[in-house]
Amino acid sequence: MTNPIQVMGVRGLPLIHAGDDVAALICERIPVEEGDILCIASTIYSKSKGYTKSLASITPTERAVRLGGMNGEDPRFVQAVLDASADIIMEQPFILSELPFGHIGVRAGVDQSNIEDGMVIFLPPEPMKAADGVRERILELTGKNVGAIITDTCGRSFRRGQTGNAIGWSGMTAIRDFRGDTDLFGHVLKITEEAVVDEIAGFSNFVMGESNNGVPAVIFRNCGTWTGHDNLYFSGEEDITRRVLKKEWS
Ligand code: GDP
Ligand code: MN
Ligand code: MN
Repeated sequence: MTNPIQVMGVRGLPLIHAGDDVAALICERIPVEEGDILCIASTIYSKSKGYTKSLASITPTERAVRLGGMNGEDPRFVQAVLDASADIIMEQPFILSELPFGHIGVRAGVDQSNIEDGMVIFLPPEPMKAADGVRERILELTGKNVGAIITDTCGRSFRRGQTGNAIGWSGMTAIRDFRGDTDLFGHVLKITEEAVVDEIAGFSNFVMGESNNGVPAVIFRNCGTWTGHDNLYFSGEEDITRRVLKKEWS
């Protein structure tokens, strides 16, 4: 890689609503180049596709009422979280969910910020297809092949502070596989798999900021290419943390 990596926040985007062509709005502001990687906050992707709901339209079940009472949350919001979840890993002190596509997240990644009062935003239900769609749309609009990552800000275990994670990706593998490479001293690496899409999503989150920054997309240039695989999520047996938590809470 000869050229320095460039990272550009996409400024000046409007508030996004259902039906907006997010890829076009981004390309109008920063011309993309072949090989760029575009990170898009799941918030705006979901708003553009209408993956939102008003709390007023939600009738909470008995479980949502119980969990809402326990965690001090609106039962209608809790119902939205339950609806988005394939499995509940922890109920207390916050709901930790597994989503149908494999991601594990606090409150199923359902947000009440950066949208009108009384509304919730869901993560895209099929984020890999979402990233494919963004990539294809940009190719159609510009003739350029880019990578796309749909991101979300997530909490994490063991450390305080949220970071950006990749929820869906296209045009790259999630993992850069170093297994079989040799280090500077000739040792063969046995376990190193780098979650590159999360690292890029993490830096994009730094550029996006939270709250009212208004930068929901970030373009990375000159990141190079890598080989690896897409098995970002542990399978059930491999996921030791999940197994321990399930035993405790179920
Ligand atoms: P999440 O991390 O995907 O849950 O999204 P956030 O709510 O943290 O928003 C990420 C970034 O996008 C922040 O800088 C927000 O201010 C910005 N943002 C969110 N929604 C919009 C929108 O509709 N338009 C614009 N221009 N920025 C937005
Ligand atoms: Mn979010
Ligand atoms: Mn965020």
